[in-house]
Amino acid sequence: MIIVMKPNAAQESIQSVVSYIENSGLNTHLSQGEEVTIIGIVGDKARLPAENLISFKDVDRIVPVTETYKLANKKFHPEPSTIQVGNTFIGPGSTAIMAGPCAVESEEQLMCIAKAVKKSGASILRGGAYKPRTSPYSFQGLEEEGLRYMQKAAKETGLASICEVVCREAIDAAVKYVDMIQIGARNMQNFILLKEAGRSGLPVLLKRGLCATIDEWLNAAEYIIAEGNPNVVLCERGIRTFETATRNTLDLSAVPVLKGKTHLPVIVDPSHSTGSYKYVAPMAKAAIACGADGLMIEVHNNPACALSDGPQSLTFEKFDRLTQELKPFCSLVGRSF
Ligand code: PEP
Ligand code: MN
Repeated sequence: MIIVMKPNAAQESIQSVVSYIENSGLNTHLSQGEEVTIIGIVGDKARLPAENLISFKDVDRIVPVTETYKLANKKFHPEPSTIQVGNTFIGPGSTAIMAGPCAVESEEQLMCIAKAVKKSGASILRGGAYKPRTSPYSFQGLEEEGLRYMQKAAKETGLASICEVVCREAIDAAVKYVDMIQIGARNMQNFILLKEAGRSGLPVLLKRGLCATIDEWLNAAEYIIAEGNPNVVLCERGIRTFETATRNTLDLSAVPVLKGKTHLPVIVDPSHSTGSYKYVAPMAKAAIACGADGLMIEVHNNPACALSDGPQSLTFEKFDRLTQELKPFCSLVGRSF
């Protein structure tokens, strides 16, 4: 539940509510807006005689929060969050473009892609060093060597950087080299990994699981935040349906649905969701039009020879055209880019 304080409630009033809740063995989460303060309660509410709270000074009302996710819930934190990633931000008013190869293949390949995506307006370099491939015989990634190339390419171009992690060892390595970690679709409900990500100290991009409902996805985010890491960004990347014309089915309605349920930023990945370079640009524009805070797009210097996800990767030329074409969409929804 949340306790909504009266507009301009006194600090002592807020503190006495917080103390009452914490003395009952529960945790509080404070959201201080311009005028109104909201005190969120996390824990077993059976331990709290909440009726007593209504008589506390400056308490306006008590609102039950029926969802199992609390810290990710918009009711706890009505203002949209802005998440810092290296030297850039993801949140309202701006457009975060993460771009780069599916997999880091070599130092030269990554450097050349990083320079191209930076020139076209990307703010974050993506590149997989630990690849969760469907087949064990497919390229599995360069691991720590790939992370070193990510660090070098990000430093040289001034881009922030993101890399997927698949296990504790990968997180321990990633914190040394990149600005943000990614939990991929296949690990969205790997709860041990989510907790490790929550303790990593780095912002986390949480992709939607292949068959995950929005509530399951928000509960996965809650696992990360509950470890003390509020810096979570959600990424819609398509879900499994009966349709086979695209690799997955991009659920763009997830964007406005999430905006009504959570304060966390939401980005869209038109590459993994469609599986074809042909559909990346139209879905990227649609994602910005429906309220996404950014995009994740796979770009390759030579898609035909890519070690993974070549068919959905954009060439430098196509990526540049897309970023140009995105600008009017961004300004229409009040975002800089
Ligand atoms: C990726 O971004 O490299 C990736 C594997 O994506 P997903 O987890 O969405 O399949
Ligand atoms: Mn990929």
